[in-house]
Amino acid sequence: MPSMPGLLATITEKSFGHRAAVTAAERISPHFLTVDLRVEPLKSGWKAGQDIQFRIDNNTFRHYSVMAVDEAGTAISVLFHLGADGPGSRWAAALDVGREVVVLGMNTPVPSRQGNHLYLGDGSAVGTIRGLVNRAAGQDTHGPASGAVEAPVEDRSALVDLLPGIEILPAATIPGAAVAEWIEATLDEAVRYDAASLFGHAQSIQRQRRILLTRAGLARKAISTKPYWATGKTGL
Ligand SMILES: Cc1cc2nc3c(=O)[nH]c(=O)nc-3n(C[C@H](O)[C@H](O)[C@H](O)COP(=O)(O)OP(=O)(O)OC[C@H]3O[C@@H](n4cnc5c(N)ncnc54)[C@H](O)[C@@H]3O)c2cc1C
Repeated sequence: MPSMPGLLATITEKSFGHRAAVTAAERISPHFLTVDLRVEPLKSGWKAGQDIQFRIDNNTFRHYSVMAVDEAGTAISVLFHLGADGPGSRWAAALDVGREVVVLGMNTPVPSRQGNHLYLGDGSAVGTIRGLVNRAAGQDTHGPASGAVEAPVEDRSALVDLLPGIEILPAATIPGAAVAEWIEATLDEAVRYDAASLFGHAQSIQRQRRILLTRAGLARKAISTKPYWATGKTGL
């Protein structure tokens, strides 16, 4: 629901919204911003990796993800990739301490992870992948996470610490090119994966899925995909 009439947006916000306040906002690198929010508890509990939405103006919502939750379930962190020239990115970049916002927390299932898992994505998926990897790290049925994320080269050092075990590749001009090249180059190793989660640019995910199915031998049901943005579209 990226855009809707103002009255409907207000009803939606009231039905699913939880009041929150920004407690910290830090630009960790040129294109990445972490924002910590004190937030009303969600009945089913906030979960790292969960989809959330913010109403960024009268008619418009944008999707983001919970990167981390504190033990009390009343503070969450979100990692914004300020890589789009759109209203969501401008709204996020202007968030500062004390600002009150509403977080829409639908009860979306967080993908489960079995065995050795491959994560692929771009800047928009760093927070999600960090959240999912950290959740899984507490469960001893899971092997180590690996994978690759492409991001602007000048952000690399900030992201390396957030995603240990995941390659941070310098993004090329064409979205998805760096990750596709990385999969091709590591195809021999791909057989060791039990499953894969692909996030980020829609057209790149399709390409990655094709390579994993046809060349890396992963089963169709072992690959989950979640497009976060698409060339030529606003607010997926
Ligand atoms: C379930 C879900 C979870 C998400 N979680 C996160 C998250 O945790 N952090 C995060 O940063 N993003 C996340 N996203 C992606 C974010 O919602 C989009 O990037 C969104 O389009 C940004 O809104 P905007 O108003 O800035 O740009 P829009 O108005 O939507 O788009 C403007 C232009 O920018 C392009 N564009 C959009 N996103 C990107 C991008 N990332 N890189 C390059 N070009 C882009 C579009 O194709 C369009 O041409 C998530 C998306 C979904 C669906």
